[in-house]
Amino acid sequence: MQVVDNLVALRTRIKNWRADNEVIAFVPTMGNLHQGHLSLVKKAAELADRVVVSIFVNPLQFNDKQDLDNYPRTLNDDIKQLSELRCDLVFTPDDSIMYPRGMSNQTSVHVPGMDDKLCGLGRPGHFDGVATVVTKLLNMVQTDIAVFGEKDYQQLLLIRQLVQDLNLPMDIIGAPTCREQDGLAMSSRNQRLTESEREKAPLLYQQLQAVKTALLENRQGLDAALADAQSQLSEAGFETEYLEVRRADNLQPLQSGETTTARILVAARLGSVRLIDNILCDLA
Ligand code: AMP
Repeated sequence: MQVVDNLVALRTRIKNWRADNEVIAFVPTMGNLHQGHLSLVKKAAELADRVVVSIFVNPLQFNDKQDLDNYPRTLNDDIKQLSELRCDLVFTPDDSIMYPRGMSNQTSVHVPGMDDKLCGLGRPGHFDGVATVVTKLLNMVQTDIAVFGEKDYQQLLLIRQLVQDLNLPMDIIGAPTCREQDGLAMSSRNQRLTESEREKAPLLYQQLQAVKTALLENRQGLDAALADAQSQLSEAGFETEYLEVRRADNLQPLQSGETTTARILVAARLGSVRLIDNILCDLA
């Protein structure tokens, strides 16, 4: 496994693989790798001859400076974990490689229909930052396949849309959310929870499941089920940003009686940590 921090070295390696007709799969990350990230790398290895992982904490997608400053950075440990998997290349650019003319002079990618819903409302500018960095990384790596987690479901749809709209020649693969034994979705932010917050955190997933059960039993009871879940979360100390059921294909609100695949999505703060999660609910 090779670790490179500059574009010339990255491109040289990719060019050689392309010349040999090898299929390349790419997993972009912000590091502090856990089993969720590693599951994406394993998926990439199943699908391709060569696996590239990037580690870059992208300042452009943080609307909260404190969140950016507190984001855990564990590069040496990340590289060690990747070296134990089938990973060929780790790309670790810094801000000067990603944004050589500065972030405010960077051409920006905007995917419409994202800022007005769910995480877009609570994190102004976040999705432009994600769309911009992912477009740049996909162009840098020139991959055939890129793997993203369903954990960040709105992000996954945004990337599918940008790849279609900009005709980027690659397949986007979504991978299921990896969870701790108690159901909490794995996340780099979990380690910032206090011990007592960590004990409460699985309630988020439990309430998603409660809403799903209620929805499958009785569509008419959905509003009551959402209200009940919200109040259970708030009683436990969560500050819910949103808890909603949306169409899985475009995140539009469900029409009454609509038979389609839905997604139940939540974002909530527990102390200083913002957690997100979502599950599928098949109403088809
Ligand atoms: P991040 O480092 O948070 O930007 O995440 C990098 C990639 O890992 C994204 O595609 C995430 O959706 C994915 N990811 C994060 N957490 C999980 C998880 N618990 N299970 C599966 N994929 C995840």
